[in-house]
Amino acid sequence: MLVRDPDGRALGRAFWSEHSQISLRRLTGDEQPVDASLFAARIDAAAALREQLYPGETLYRAVHGEADGLPGLVVDRYGDWLSVQFLVPGTERLRDQLVAQLAERFGCRGVVNRSDAGVRRLEGLPAERGVIHGELPAEVLVREGGLELGLDLLAGQKTGAFLDQRENHLAAGRYARGRALDCFSYAGGFALQMAGQADHVTALDVSAEACALIEANAARNGLGNLTAVCANAFDFLRAEVEAGSRYDTIVLDPPAFAKHKGARAAGLRGYKEINLRALQLLVPGGILITASCSYHVDEPSFGEMLAEAARDARRRVQVLERRGAARDHPVLLGMPESRYLKCWIVRVLD
Ligand code: SAH
Repeated sequence: MLVRDPDGRALGRAFWSEHSQISLRRLTGDEQPVDASLFAARIDAAAALREQLYPGETLYRAVHGEADGLPGLVVDRYGDWLSVQFLVPGTERLRDQLVAQLAERFGCRGVVNRSDAGVRRLEGLPAERGVIHGELPAEVLVREGGLELGLDLLAGQKTGAFLDQRENHLAAGRYARGRALDCFSYAGGFALQMAGQADHVTALDVSAEACALIEANAARNGLGNLTAVCANAFDFLRAEVEAGSRYDTIVLDPPAFAKHKGARAAGLRGYKEINLRALQLLVPGGILITASCSYHVDEPSFGEMLAEAARDARRRVQVLERRGAARDHPVLLGMPESRYLKCWIVRVLD
């Protein structure tokens, strides 16, 4: 729809969401028509950025919503397959057109609809998932930093994997050594990269499906030094502290503990507990790679939480890197909502 200011001047065109608290999502800053060619141009620009960032690779977030000028559309590319989320009524209505345009631009063999994200409810849209173009094998094979991963795009979490952590998985691989622990491991994104450097990696997840995925991916890559453990990370970390265990490298990548503003304080308590335990478990010189994907816990609060955890654990800690989501998840300047992932790499001094 065309949006005008109170004096009648055109402000641009936007998607209109009747049921959402976010009523308008801006598409253009003028009266330029919103037609198929506009979407084709935006998809093309998004694809060109990924081709520049990751030449020759086919595992990335191909379209990252507003930050790529395509509000309400998320597209993850897994080799010859695309996993797509239509998150607002505007993109839901244009579904067939967008699928055809995406399939043409990326030359893929199949498109999976993963419009089962909770945010669809806020838009008055039902949860949906299924193959909406071409075909899909039970397992899709992708390459991440020299390893082969098998993923389930239909039943897997999110769109099949957590592509936002892809560059952080590789960073963790560079730091890992000795005894390593990856809590909240899902398909083993961090654990598998660390297994190449560390003596042994324990990959932990509360979900049995995730543990099966980790084991299959470790076997596929001949990584005999990786053990998957199906357990609650809070209990596991507490028991390890009580047992006096020591680790050289630990990764914490929990699900969002603060999904809305009201859950912020409880979320911060959860983050502090796991970070405190991890710091207690690390040897001097040990590395902690610690993430939060809660938008409602911003970077300064995350830093304060970590400082409190270090103080309570009586450890002195150096910050080596403050990382975020991979570059295929660009942040739109002036739109802080598009920045959500924190991934810090810190080192215990003593
Ligand atoms: N680190 C992964 C993504 C993790 S997503 C990657 O980079 O690909 C969060 C994972 O935490 C999910 O797989 C979920 O099953 C798991 N999880 C949630 N609560 C948990 C808990 N209390 N203990 C252990 N794992 C948990």
